[in-house]
Amino acid sequence: MDDNHTTFLVEGSLKPYIEGHHLIPMAAQDYFEYTIDFADNIVTLCPTCHRKIHYATADVKAEMLKTLFNQRAALYPKYGISVNTKLLESFYGII
Ligand SMILES: [Zn+2]
Ligand SMILES: [Zn+2]
Repeated sequence: MDDNHTTFLVEGSLKPYIEGHHLIPMAAQDYFEYTIDFADNIVTLCPTCHRKIHYATADVKAEMLKTLFNQRAALYPKYGISVNTKLLESFYGII
């Protein structure tokens, strides 16, 4: 999410180290009738951005969510998942 962030290459694969994060948090599973544990709900972040989306201040988290959700919003209906920015923010304790 930030070109200034650096990570490192993983031994063996020699690919940049990244971490997976459920954009709709798994803790919100009970809100939905269908599973939210699918690949399109997982974003890959550098370790710093991953900590950021969990622990940053509300305004910073909201900005990250806006960017990430805009990239994924159209994919959720095919999984039977109805979600919008406000609902997503509520899952992150923003509103
Ligand atoms: Zn996470
Ligand atoms: Zn980053």
